[in-house]
Amino acid sequence: MILTGLLAVAGCNSTSSQATGCQTEVEASSTWYYFDWMADAPYAPTFRVLDTESSLGPYAEHSKTITLEDLIKMHGHPCDGLVTAACAMSVGLKQLYPNGTIDRTDTCCITNNSPCYGDVAAYLTGGRIRFGTQKIDPSLGNAFILYRVSTGQAVKVSLRPGVFPARVAALENKIRSGDFTVADMRRCQQWQWDYARTLLEKPLDASFQVESLPAFSWEADPYPNAGKRGDVVNKNVEQVTLRNK
Ligand SMILES: [Zn+2]
Repeated sequence: MILTGLLAVAGCNSTSSQATGCQTEVEASSTWYYFDWMADAPYAPTFRVLDTESSLGPYAEHSKTITLEDLIKMHGHPCDGLVTAACAMSVGLKQLYPNGTIDRTDTCCITNNSPCYGDVAAYLTGGRIRFGTQKIDPSLGNAFILYRVSTGQAVKVSLRPGVFPARVAALENKIRSGDFTVADMRRCQQWQWDYARTLLEKPLDASFQVESLPAFSWEADPYPNAGKRGDVVNKNVEQVTLRNK
């Protein structure tokens, strides 16, 4: 992480580097949140995704690429949960999309109720609770279910036993109990990042296992304000038109 200039510290309004009564202010580089060990990691996943062109379709002609940096901007912080979910998504989506391009109009996801897992899964699959294409199952723990609507394929990706460090889990529990120090919080943060880094430094299959779920059927969770996703209704209109000519 490179700090290059001025950053307003929370609670301080000044943008000057002069004494303000607050901490010394430093402005971060434009990517201060995107650690070098993430950016340079040999197995950091990237994702090629296909979407629609606008609110009523049709399919876009070209794909786009999503990186860990994009996920951090969406989620808000570079946490171990984000890295875990991204790696799991990479392993699972490769099964559903062997050609490498993930169709975000055709994919559903289920995660536990972690904000980190749910955010990453929704971003990378296009699944949303309000459209009945994202579900939450607290019993999943460190596992993820991905479903491709058009083929009916489903896979479950799980963090292998023992990969998540017991000392991190214990310290997280201590902090959640409310009985902790700032030093505990900082130590936990560092240990979480150390764990996340290990995921990105070896082939993802070493940390995750994937199984297909042949008998799986998707049923949306009830949601009072469920709506229809307009851009996918006529996403194939150009292909249909061309076929009928
Ligand atoms: Zn997070």
